[in-house]
Amino acid sequence: MPSVINDGIILDISKLKKVEIVDINKGLVKVQAGAVWGDVAEFLNRFHLVISSGDFGDTGVGGLSTSGGIGLLVRSFGLTIDHILAAKVITADGEIRSVDKDNEPDLFWAIRGGSSQIGLVTELLFQADKIEPENQYQCPITVQNIDFIIDDLESFVHKWGKWIDEAPLKITSNLMFTSFDNNQILVKMNNFWVGMPNQIANDAFKKASKLAIVKKYDQKVVDYGKAC
Ligand SMILES: Cc1cc2nc3c(=O)[nH]c(=O)nc-3n(C[C@H](O)[C@H](O)[C@H](O)COP(=O)(O)OP(=O)(O)OC[C@H]3O[C@@H](n4cnc5c(N)ncnc54)[C@H](O)[C@@H]3O)c2cc1C
Repeated sequence: MPSVINDGIILDISKLKKVEIVDINKGLVKVQAGAVWGDVAEFLNRFHLVISSGDFGDTGVGGLSTSGGIGLLVRSFGLTIDHILAAKVITADGEIRSVDKDNEPDLFWAIRGGSSQIGLVTELLFQADKIEPENQYQCPITVQNIDFIIDDLESFVHKWGKWIDEAPLKITSNLMFTSFDNNQILVKMNNFWVGMPNQIANDAFKKASKLAIVKKYDQKVVDYGKAC
């Protein structure tokens, strides 16, 4: 049973997957809506450019960009929709429209959140951000993964909230929870620091590791192209 409304249609745009640098100095990048974020990240990595998107590489540019986009770079660089400068959209009347803040600004506003309610977005122009290369990395991201075992979820989330609130904006953190029959909860915390680790990053990571009893710990540097 397809997940589509009665009498609805599905458009397969998976072949529209071109990613193109429009202006390297200004960080302007054009992406067709059928691309997936993992491929976009891998392409941009070699130019030291990043677009804040989701945490998983197999989500699509079309759906994520037109609905929000929260991921591993969100505290550093904001939502995906905040980086859209222009788009090409096909509306229900069959018109292909090029929209930006000056051309059809209402439509431009609506596609950033309205998704398929508004039309089919085929192409987006993004303002990418830059990450400086260091050592062998083109776009270094330091990743800290911690597994905690807890029994008081509310108290843990409060402590985590206070920690992330006080942590530098170069750190983004996400949590995943699994509960067990014995009332214990496994918390998987993933923290992402933009760049190579320095004293500030290490201090924040150390504080994160003291939030509860650590079951497993891992810290590594990866390229942005491999981070999602
Ligand atoms: C495993 C997984 C991990 C996820 N992680 C994150 C995350 O970290 N951060 C985050 O922000 N979101 C995340 N999401 C949610 C994801 O952003 C949405 O599911 C998004 O809509 C996926 O877009 P898609 O193009 O892959 O999906 P689709 O199922 O193809 O589309 C989803 C919706 O968007 C509409 N749409 C798709 N393409 C277009 C287009 N070109 N023009 C207009 N409308 C379009 C579709 O009609 C549909 O309503 C995740 C989802 C999954 C399944």
